[in-house]
Amino acid sequence: MNLKNLELEQWQALLAPFAPSTTAIRKLFAAVFAHGAPNVAALRQVPQVPARVRDHLLARAEVPSLTVLERRRAQDGFVKYLFGSPAGGRFEAVRIPLFEEKYVVCISSQVGCALGCGFCATGRLGFSRNLETWEMVDQVLRIRQEADRPVRGVVFMGMGEPLLNPTEVLRAARILSHPAGLAIAARAISLSTAGVVPAIHRYVREGHPYRLVFSLTSAIPAKRLLVMPIEATHALPSWCQPFAPTPTRAKSAPCWPTSSFPASTPGTRMPWRWRRPSEASPSSSTSSTSPTSAVATCRQARRNSPGFATTCDC
Ligand code: SF4
Repeated sequence: MNLKNLELEQWQALLAPFAPSTTAIRKLFAAVFAHGAPNVAALRQVPQVPARVRDHLLARAEVPSLTVLERRRAQDGFVKYLFGSPAGGRFEAVRIPLFEEKYVVCISSQVGCALGCGFCATGRLGFSRNLETWEMVDQVLRIRQEADRPVRGVVFMGMGEPLLNPTEVLRAARILSHPAGLAIAARAISLSTAGVVPAIHRYVREGHPYRLVFSLTSAIPAKRLLVMPIEATHALPSWCQPFAPTPTRAKSAPCWPTSSFPASTPGTRMPWRWRRPSEASPSSSTSSTSPTSAVATCRQARRNSPGFATTCDC
C-alpha cells in the first residue's frame, strides 16, 4: 500500500482498526508530506504513534520516491527537472523563481499527452499513462528538498492535460494544500486545461478552490483549430457555458459602490468601499443606482484606479 497516494481521511480509514488518536494519524500524515519522509522506515521516528500502528505500517506500507534523472539550470534561475518513476516513464517539472523570495513549481500530470497540440513537444510523444497522485506530489517534494526558498505555489502546466486525469490531480491538489500536508494555499494552485469541457463542467459543479487556467493560444476558432486539435471536439464557445450567471453564483453579479465616485488622486485612499448588492442597504441598492449605470460607473472607477482589485464581473 502506497502511503503517498492517500489523503488524511483515507489514512484514518486505513488505521481505524487500531483506533489511534487523531493526533497520531496527523503526525504520520505530516511526516510523509510536510517533512518528506524518504521511506517507510523513517516513520519509526514519529512520536506519539502506538507501536501496533507503526508495526502495521512498517510491514504493509511503502513510501516510494521519484528519481531525479537530470537537472538543467537556466541563467534566469529556472531549473528543469527530469524525473523517473519506479512505475515507469519519464516526465518533467520546472522550478520557477518569483520575486527572489519564493518558488512556484510547474508539474506534470501525465506521461506524454493525447491532445497533440502542434506547438508542443509533449504532444508529439503521444499518451503513455496517467500519473498517480504520489507521482505529482513527489515532484513538489523532491524539488522542495533542494530549494533554498520556500515553495509557495504549484501549477499543473507540465506534461499532460490535468483534466484528463482529474481524480488523481484533484487528490494531489488536496494533499498539496492540506495544512498538515505541504500547506500550499489553494489559491496558489492552478490547473491548466486546453478545454476539456465535460471535465470543466464537473470542476465547476464540484466547486474546487484551485484556479482553473485556460490555454487559449488563439481566440479565433479557425486559427486555434490549426494548432490545437481539441478545438474540433470542444469549440471555444462551449467553454463558457459552465460559467454562465446563475442565481446561486454570487460572483457573477455586478457590484457597485453605495456613493458616487470621486476622482482618484494618486497617493490618497478611496473614501468608499465596494459592496456587493447583497451587502448594500435597500435604499442604496434599489432606488439610487440602477444596475446598468452602476456597471458603467464600476468600469469607470476601475479605469481611474487600475490598482484597485475587485471580484466583480463588470
Ligand atoms: S494539452 Fe498541453 S501538454 Fe498536451 S499537447 Fe497540448 S500543450 Fe502539450
